[in-house]
Amino acid sequence: MNASPEHQRILLDIADLDRRIAQADRARTHPSQAARITELVAIRQEQLRELTALTGTRDDVRTELTRLESDVALVEKRRARDVERLAVATNPKDAQALEHEIASLTQRQSNLEDAELDVMGRLEEADAAVAAQQALIDITTSEGSTLSAQGKADVAAAAELGVQLARDRAAVAENVPAPLLAEYTQRSANSAGAALISRGTCEGCRMVLPGTDLNDIRRAADDTVVFCPECGCILVRTEESGL
Ligand SMILES: [Zn+2]
Repeated sequence: MNASPEHQRILLDIADLDRRIAQADRARTHPSQAARITELVAIRQEQLRELTALTGTRDDVRTELTRLESDVALVEKRRARDVERLAVATNPKDAQALEHEIASLTQRQSNLEDAELDVMGRLEEADAAVAAQQALIDITTSEGSTLSAQGKADVAAAAELGVQLARDRAAVAENVPAPLLAEYTQRSANSAGAALISRGTCEGCRMVLPGTDLNDIRRAADDTVVFCPECGCILVRTEESGL
């Protein structure tokens, strides 16, 4: 295949644009934040499970406290009733029995109040644990929202860049004869499509070419299209090639 050196050189610009288009496409479909966002979703699920467990414990302690409070209220009520009865008791035996019960109720009330204090302490701890877990979840959620917003912005920017690059490529490609462009397109499926040959190395695959191939390339006319024996891309010769 023949093509003017000028047309061959344009392929280097097209290959560069295609590389940048592929990069923009990767940035659009695989934003750098995606992995961490997936991780955060899993972390948040685990944190929510833990929150459910902690809330359950806290609710149990709260129920225990409510039960103790109603027990205390009952004992108080009974003791108050006994005190009233004692005040009007005429029978010494009844009075003694009431005094006995009042003493026992007083002791019971004191025990219940001690237990109440203990449960109140546990409730405070359980409330703190729930709040701390909620704070952890808030941090995870906030990191997730920030990354998600950044990801969306990056994807939008990459999409816009992709459109701009595709427009540039179309404009540049207009200057390349159709057969040469078709050759490039076909070869770009499995290689860089076109690359500079520089100091005996194909810049498409970075392989140093064997001496015999280099000699063939040196001997080839300027308008002969030559290919990399390693990757198959079009090798473009310029004054930088140092052949
Ligand atoms: Zn190559």
